[in-house]
Amino acid sequence: MIRPPLPADEAARQSTLDAYRILDTPREAAYDDLVTIAAAICDVPMAVITLVDRDRQWFKSTHGVDGSETPREIAFCAHAILEPDETMIVRDTREDVRFSDNPLVTGAANVRFYAGAPMRAADGQPMGTFCVLDHKPRELGPVQRTALEALSRQASRLMELHRISHELRLQLDERGWYEQQLLHYQQELENQNADLEEQSSTDPLTGLANRRAFSRTLDQAITQAHALGTPLSVAIVDIDHFKSINDLHGHAEGDRVLQTLGAMLLSTEAARGRVARFGGEEFVRLLPDRALADAARESEYLREAVAAMPTGLPVTISIGVAALQPGEDASALLARADQALYKAKHEGRDRVCALA
Ligand code: GH3
Ligand code: MG
Ligand code: MG
Repeated sequence: MIRPPLPADEAARQSTLDAYRILDTPREAAYDDLVTIAAAICDVPMAVITLVDRDRQWFKSTHGVDGSETPREIAFCAHAILEPDETMIVRDTREDVRFSDNPLVTGAANVRFYAGAPMRAADGQPMGTFCVLDHKPRELGPVQRTALEALSRQASRLMELHRISHELRLQLDERGWYEQQLLHYQQELENQNADLEEQSSTDPLTGLANRRAFSRTLDQAITQAHALGTPLSVAIVDIDHFKSINDLHGHAEGDRVLQTLGAMLLSTEAARGRVARFGGEEFVRLLPDRALADAARESEYLREAVAAMPTGLPVTISIGVAALQPGEDASALLARADQALYKAKHEGRDRVCALA
């Protein structure tokens, strides 16, 4: 027996075969049909689609043959792939020095005739053979040989389809994964944007709207009030002698007072954004639908509530109130509220002053 030598580019051949991922796959009717047809056309008891792997030949489909593989060193097909363009025909295995003492010939398998058409991969590498076998020596007619070679090409195409569908599946999986990632990043970005939006419109100490956010709200409210002819007022709230609170009790205590006042202001307005920290120890309150007298009265309630605030410190506030005049814009309205505040401070603090 002559052991089959390895093809010169065996490493490349093996990696091509591995890439098909066909080894050790289950039996498939499509291949079984081909071997049945081959056996019928060639009039033989045995037909096999075999793939030549590292140390074995593995059978993708068999007809009249038991088992799923044999060692490569006794494989007829390992010889056949050495000439990938030729169908290898062994009329009588006992008369061929390569096979005469091969256990497949001398043993129970009793292979006396072999014809194998190499199956080529898309890159031309031989993966194995489509072969027919018999228990007696014989010939293969030209029509039978042509049919065997055609069936070998069909089997190669089936394997090519298997490889492509596997690759497509991988690509689809990968694409699905990327889409998932993309969605995830998009979500994260949206969350971050929402956080930034929140941060850029919120005062971090009190959690109230900041001056920027308030001016947007105020502009909209003014536009609406002018359009509908409804009243609107604003109140600027300033803590009296806040500097002394800081000086006497420390900055942290001052912060706590700001937070307490912020929370109280927030409780006066259900709609978020209508009260804001205007800066430092100054707050502003939007009073939509309130003419000056109503706004002044509500501001008075607030002043009283602050004076009674349980901060443990004598905190009082001064408030300047102004009502929107026809055609007036936000800065003019706020400037008048500021004048009113200045007046309240000037008149002794802890009071509300309103300017028509
Ligand atoms: P007035 O009655 O005239 O309003 O006197 P005031 O002391 O309240 O006013 P002034 O403008 O002189 O001082 C405001 C102080 O507020 C000065 C500043 O250190 C303090 N302040 C501003 N922002 C903060 C803050 O975030 N935390 C604390 N603790 N203090 C602040
Ligand atoms: Mg101030
Ligand atoms: Mg002050």
